[in-house]
Amino acid sequence: MKLGTIGVGNAGSKIVDKMVEFESLTNRKLCRHVMVINTARTDLTKPDHIPENRRVLIGDTHQKAKGHGVGGDVDVGAEVAKNDMDEIRRAFDDVDIHEVDAILVCASLGGGTGSGAAPVVIKELQKMYDEPVYGLGVLPGKYEGGRPALNAARSLQSFVNNTDNFIAFDNDAWRSKGQTVGEGYEGMNRELATRIVTLLGAGEYDEATTAENAMDSSDIIRTLDTNGISSIGYASTTVNNNGDGLLNRFREEHEIEDTTNSAAKINGLVRRAVNSRLTLPCEVSSADRALIVLSGPPSELSRKGLESAREWIEKEVDTVEVLAGDDPRENASALSAVVLLSNVTETPRIKAIQEQAVEAQEKIAEQEAVREEEIANLIKDKDGKIDPVI
Ligand code: GDP
Repeated sequence: MKLGTIGVGNAGSKIVDKMVEFESLTNRKLCRHVMVINTARTDLTKPDHIPENRRVLIGDTHQKAKGHGVGGDVDVGAEVAKNDMDEIRRAFDDVDIHEVDAILVCASLGGGTGSGAAPVVIKELQKMYDEPVYGLGVLPGKYEGGRPALNAARSLQSFVNNTDNFIAFDNDAWRSKGQTVGEGYEGMNRELATRIVTLLGAGEYDEATTAENAMDSSDIIRTLDTNGISSIGYASTTVNNNGDGLLNRFREEHEIEDTTNSAAKINGLVRRAVNSRLTLPCEVSSADRALIVLSGPPSELSRKGLESAREWIEKEVDTVEVLAGDDPRENASALSAVVLLSNVTETPRIKAIQEQAVEAQEKIAEQEAVREEEIANLIKDKDGKIDPVI
């Protein structure tokens, strides 16, 4: 599909940047318009693939932001976006949105800017355009503590209530041991970009394709049209390694062995994708709809393989709403299967974040209640004999 892609906040912008990088490395044509929005001037300098004039700073006159971010305060993030809505609208005015099939807003839910400002931006986009607006959101890891969990539990409701679909990525499930946080994020963003671009970029080519079974953007829109939360599975195998170092970095973690015939290979690949680490760990059978995209050189694509994989997923997910299609890529050096599980309802991480958030909220309220008393006790002498100056 043709996508308008907007990153809000630090993580959201990095993810959009990675999507554009992966897209250009694989000659895909997904992101027709990109934009990043942030309250922190320094974070706006980080992307490598976003044009300068598509980077929007908001809140630089807000007294709690002033171009330095919102300090993880989700309410300030939302307030800043509301105050600067005219500026955000003006930035959208430059975009001929009628060229796109949908809009994707990416953000992390654990910080302040993405989790607070992105839902405000999404609400405005829903008012301005008829096209579906999807969210792509990063859930904080348990290890990050109570405040990010509280931000995420609040922001998740706003995201899901205002988007046509919310695709989730769980930092907890994707954290690798022995890496620095920065290295970890880099790898996670690459994994996420690979999945999302392979999925949403299916069916977009420079020239019209004659592929019989080609994926159409209306199939993707149909599968996402559940107003719920989605998760993505992915697996790939090299078919003709061209030694492209940069691109190989997008692959190394999910290689599988070649199998003998292409139908069996495809069937195995799709099963592998469903049983792989999902962007949001969930009970697969709780999904409402599913979609399979098989991307690779036309010679590797087998209609029989895709059909039997589709039947298998129909049983696994226990739904008749399973769509499947090819994404032929003449010069591709990998065969990839991506499976979208739409409207998954059994996801232990979301329940765990909500529990952590409730605990954090209670602790914050308790601390606020005793704070004034503690300060008064600290600055006053024991018998109240000394008066303040003013
Ligand atoms: P914001 O600019 O205020 O929205 O703040 P961030 O986007 O940095 O949000 C902080 C949350 O995002 C925390 O839960 C971090 O773990 C997570 N985070 C920050 N950077 C990345 C990243 O590059 N990738 C991923 N997956 N998560 C990130």
